[in-house]
Formats: sequence, structure tokens, C-alpha cells
Amino acid sequence: MSETSDLKFATLAIHAGAAPDPVTGARATPIYQTTSFVFQDTDHAAQLFGLQAFGNIYTRITNPTQAVLEGRIAALEGGTAALAVASGHSAQFLIFHTLLEPGDEFIAGSQLYGGSINQFNHSFKKFDWRVVWANSLDPSTFERAITPRTRAIFVESIANPGGVVVDIEAISAVAKKAGVPLIVDNTLASPYLCRPKDFGADIVVHSLTKFIGGHGNSMGGALVDCGTFDWMKSKHRYRTLVEPNASYSGMVLGEVFGNMAFAIAARVMGLRDIGPAISPINAFLLLTGAETLPLRMQRHSDNALAVARYLQDHPKVAWVNYAGLPGDASYERHKKICPKGAGAVFTFGLKGGYEAGVKLASSLKLFSLLANIGDTRSLVIHPASTTHRQLTDEQRIAAGAGPDVVRLSVGLEDEADIIADLAQALDAL
Ligand SMILES: *Cc1c(COP(=O)(O)O)cnc(C)c1O
Repeated sequence: MSETSDLKFATLAIHAGAAPDPVTGARATPIYQTTSFVFQDTDHAAQLFGLQAFGNIYTRITNPTQAVLEGRIAALEGGTAALAVASGHSAQFLIFHTLLEPGDEFIAGSQLYGGSINQFNHSFKKFDWRVVWANSLDPSTFERAITPRTRAIFVESIANPGGVVVDIEAISAVAKKAGVPLIVDNTLASPYLCRPKDFGADIVVHSLTKFIGGHGNSMGGALVDCGTFDWMKSKHRYRTLVEPNASYSGMVLGEVFGNMAFAIAARVMGLRDIGPAISPINAFLLLTGAETLPLRMQRHSDNALAVARYLQDHPKVAWVNYAGLPGDASYERHKKICPKGAGAVFTFGLKGGYEAGVKLASSLKLFSLLANIGDTRSLVIHPASTTHRQLTDEQRIAAGAGPDVVRLSVGLEDEADIIADLAQALDAL
């Protein structure tokens, strides 16, 4: 299937990027479990190595199963091209590796996945890539953080902790004014609930590990080039894209590859040299997950709304933060950014505090106590006693992980069974 532009989301989720296998006729995308690919002759090899022809050389850089996954994700996000890699974190790493030089800055909204906060604060320091923090819910804090060294802005669409909705359109206006790309981590929303490109994102990043794979069985990540940012306009910045490339005979990637230059640069420089390739079997499993994304995401959101409503009325529950609940601080933004639903992940607080959180997490039977989201199964975590255990009380509260906080990732089981499990665990408090 090559012409995808007129097709609707549910159709793209099943068909985009794929075609029956040209050799065997296999209808499902085969798992091309091979490290390398035979060249037609030495001229063909030279063309592939010089980026004069598209084709497969070695699975660290491209693989046909990976390519179908990339076509699928790019189509779902409305981008020009995508790059699939081993994890969400490696996708983030390759994005910044492509954009930044030592001493460059980027602004990130502090309402962020904990792992991203660590990556930005600690590992990026080794490259002298400097994160400047802003408040995801207040676009003016991004505007104030802009400096002559700012090279990008990074936010989540539906953001951690606990699913707050970010006004990416307002933050995109700040990025456009500053002449820098807006990167949106769309993991919690998935392209079914929110398409960041429609609100001005230039690059979208995913942990495919979560809702796109959706079954809690494979790690993967992707970056999407929305094709919207003009790299060549800013000559002195983004050297990987605008300067003659010594490893490709002086080719200027931004010039030759136009509106897909970012995705291609991330592959032919970042993935080539850093190496976090996705395994073909994981690409296959994530692709299978993507086929049912619209069905699953709607059910995740509907179930989560029902659970949030139930908890809101429960006498042992102090508060519920779910963007889909009328009156929630994110409710109006959710109607603009992700009107079909507010996703599966949210937090609530127990009147009984820390002890109640520990007890609840261990009394649930259908929910699994673990540090992940976006599984078919319902998941729970009590951050204060687990993921945020090492922090002080003060730090935990600042991170949205106070002693009373419980986080749920509501699964695809029957809504009545999910609520019954919470009911019995709350009764036990
Ligand atoms: C899990 C997650 C990541 C990191 O993805 P991995 O696949 O675990 O590397 C990044 N952002 C968000 C919002 C996530 O939930």
C-alpha cells in the first residue's frame, strides 16, 4: 500500500507501510530475522553506502520489518518519515544527538516521565547538552526560558505524572517564535487520541513499549519527522543537518532530503553510530499491536473514565486527577487536544495516606503491581513506596508522588471487574 493519504485512521492502523510479501505472497508482514542483505553487485553496494539509493545493508541501520513499522507510525502521526529503534529512551537520545552540539540548550516541560527527567538531567550532561526546565502547564515559562542557545522544546502531550493534558498549540507558538522545533512525546496519548502535528509539533517521539505495542511484551521506540521544520533556514544551527557531511562525501542532509531530512539524519548518523537498533521480532510484535490501536485506546479511555468516576465518589478517596472528569484542571485542554478520551493513566489520593497506599497496592488482585503503563492488563503503582522510594517527602510531593498517591494504568478487562477489584481493596483499608 503506497497511497495512504486519503485513508482513515483505523484503516491506516492496519495497512499503512505494508504490502503482501513480493516473493512469497505472505499477507502478514514477515519477521526478516537477518543481520545483512545481499547486494546486486558492487555498484549497487556503492549507491547504498553513498545514500544515492534506498535499500537494506545491515539491520543496525535498516530492516524490512522495521521499515513497515516505520511506515505505519509515520502515517498514523501524519509525518513524512519515522525511525523505529530499540526503546523510547533511545529514540529520545537520537533526536537530541541529531539536534544538539555541546553547549546547546533545550527547554523541557517538567511534567515528564521520570526516566526522561533522569536522562536529561544526568546522562545528557556528559555531552554538555543542557536542559532548562519550564512548567508544562504554563506556556509563558517556556517563553521566558528561551536564550540564544535554545535549540528545541520538549513536552509530553498527555503528561506524567498522572495524565495532565498540555496545551501543545500554545507551546508550539513559543517554539515558532524562537525558530526552534517542538518535540512532543506522544506515548500516553498515542496518535489515536492526539496528533501533535495538528497542533504544531515538528518531531514526535514514542515509547512503542506502551500503548502502540499495547500488550506489555516488547520494547521499542520511534521518532517521527513531521516534515514541518525548515532546517536550512537556520544555517548556523543544527550542524548535522545543514553542514557538509564528511562521512557522506560532503552531502548536506538537510538539502538533499528536504522534509524527511531529520528522520534520515537520525538514522544515517545517530542510529548508524550509536546503534540502538530494534530487533525484527520486536518490530513485528509492535506492528501487530498497532493494528488494534484505535479499538484498544478507545476502550482504555472509556474504562479509565468509568474507574475515575467510581473513585471520585468513594468515601476513602481524597481526590482524583483525571483529565476526562468534568471540573478537572485538564478537562478543557483535553477537549481541545484529545477530545476522544483522556487515556488510561491517572492518579488518585487516599485519605489514609502512605499506609493506605501500600495496603491498597498489595490488596488488588486483578491489577498488577509494577512499573509500567499501556498493557492490556490493569496496572497499579504506589510511587512513594516503590519508584520514588529514594526521594525525600518534599521531593516526592514536587514530583506528584506524595505519600497518598496511587497511579493506575487502566487495562482492557471488563469495566465491572476492574471496579470490583478496586472496591474489594478499598474495603480492606
Ligand atoms: C516509558 C516511557 C518512555 C521511555 O520509553 P522506553 O520504551 O521505556 O525506553 C518515555 N516517555 C514516556 C512518556 C514513557 O511512558
